Amino acid sequence: MDDLAQELNIAVIGGGYAGMAAAVALAEQGIPVTVFESAKQLGGRARGVLHEHTQLDNGQHILLGCYKETLGLIEKVGGNIGQDFLHLPLQLDLHGHFSLKAPRIPAPLHLLVALVKTKGLTWNERISAIRFMFRLRRMNFKLDRDMTVTELLRLHGQSIQLVQKLWEPLCIAALNTPLQIASAQVLLNVLKDALSQTRGDSDMLLPRIDFTALFPNRAARYVKKHSGHVLTSCGVESLIPLENGFEIITRRGTLYFSHVVCAASPASAVKLLKPITELSCIVQQIETLQYQPIYTLYLQYPKHVKLPHAMLGLYRRYSQWLFDKGQIDGQSGLIASVISAEGMHQHLSQNELAQKVIAELTEEFAIADRPQWFRVIAEKRATFSCTPSLQRPNQKTPLSRLFLAGDYTNGDYPATLEGAVQSGLRCANLLNPESFTHKKAI
Ligand SMILES: Cc1cc2nc3c(=O)[nH]c(=O)nc-3n(C[C@H](O)[C@H](O)[C@H](O)COP(=O)(O)OP(=O)(O)OC[C@H]3O[C@@H](n4cnc5c(N)ncnc54)[C@H](O)[C@@H]3O)c2cc1C
Repeated sequence: MDDLAQELNIAVIGGGYAGMAAAVALAEQGIPVTVFESAKQLGGRARGVLHEHTQLDNGQHILLGCYKETLGLIEKVGGNIGQDFLHLPLQLDLHGHFSLKAPRIPAPLHLLVALVKTKGLTWNERISAIRFMFRLRRMNFKLDRDMTVTELLRLHGQSIQLVQKLWEPLCIAALNTPLQIASAQVLLNVLKDALSQTRGDSDMLLPRIDFTALFPNRAARYVKKHSGHVLTSCGVESLIPLENGFEIITRRGTLYFSHVVCAASPASAVKLLKPITELSCIVQQIETLQYQPIYTLYLQYPKHVKLPHAMLGLYRRYSQWLFDKGQIDGQSGLIASVISAEGMHQHLSQNELAQKVIAELTEEFAIADRPQWFRVIAEKRATFSCTPSLQRPNQKTPLSRLFLAGDYTNGDYPATLEGAVQSGLRCANLLNPESFTHKKAI
């Protein structure tokens, strides 16, 4: 194994969560690894952003307790899950219209009690939701054929109110894809992991530090400590397959590697892979992906302005979710409004959208103050559109020395941090010298 490890010299292209997960797993095994990141900082679509001396993220992210691989890696590189996150029990509060909160009792009883006690639904609707959950458990959250979430909910008699107050917010939060086109099977994959094992799996984790600090920067320190390299502002301009590896061309020079994990976002991956004829099928698969946006509006109010909870939703408003950063990480008066997936908001200018959100906050919470500043971050290609039976590219490619990592590659999860991390770990596993030895023996 030691000889094989010495032959390996791996390039990871992209320092997002997928790339850094792969790099940590490889470095841990003593395999030489170099991460190339085109941006000045690590993190990709989950990165810290500084504005008006205030630490923000490119988007307010939320993790679930069932994101085991991500949480495990954060701890491995020196994080502390207890301190790094505000832990909330499963809850869905649409201010004044709907409220579901799971008590701290074992699963799945916590969900049953939460549904029985839900405010904003009739008894019949609550029973209908409970029956639906029992049927999903009996099916082990597995469908015979994938379909849209709308179709699944219609088949199981979920009323319009149930859809609008419970399933739509859940589906948009989990898949960032409208119900009418979202994959029911992928939603069930997430529900299964979050709801069927322990209560902690459905906990909602709100980070107290920014997303570059939370994992990628710690991962970079870990990789360097294990003799690896992490190069920022060092984008890969082209990737040339050789007989025994790859030539990687960057503005700083040309380097040679035995293997490559391409963990760039789908659009950037296409640019690198397109010139390689053997990869035309994969390129075609990536090019057929559609995307969904996520808009995050940060509003800095005077320090005394607070929301009723750290996180809450609004019913049929522009703002889908609001986060009171003061209650999460001590940034008093800072409110984040999140608008996921495609919608009417995309037709507004950033200023128009901010004015709508400010008006909503005033109406819903009687906030008399005006924000001192606001910042709109529109991620137009935040995630791929998670549609039924979507064919996603595999981590293995027709070139035996090239692997693909990223939230868009094949897996059970939608485009999430956990999906990204799982893909990175899968690549590292495929590169494990032990698995090479095994393959040789076969
Ligand atoms: C606003 C927003 C909110 C979100 N909210 C959530 C949430 O609440 N929960 C959740 O789980 N997920 C959420 N997501 C999704 C999550 O952020 C992504 O699934 C995840 O970050 C994707 O990671 P990745 O490593 O696959 O890709 P990326 O983060 O895109 O990483 C790719 C990296 O490759 C680099 N790169 C590209 N080309 C090159 C090149 N040629 N050379 C070198 N480097 C290159 C890029 O700069 C980037 O750093 C959200 C996403 C957004 C945008």
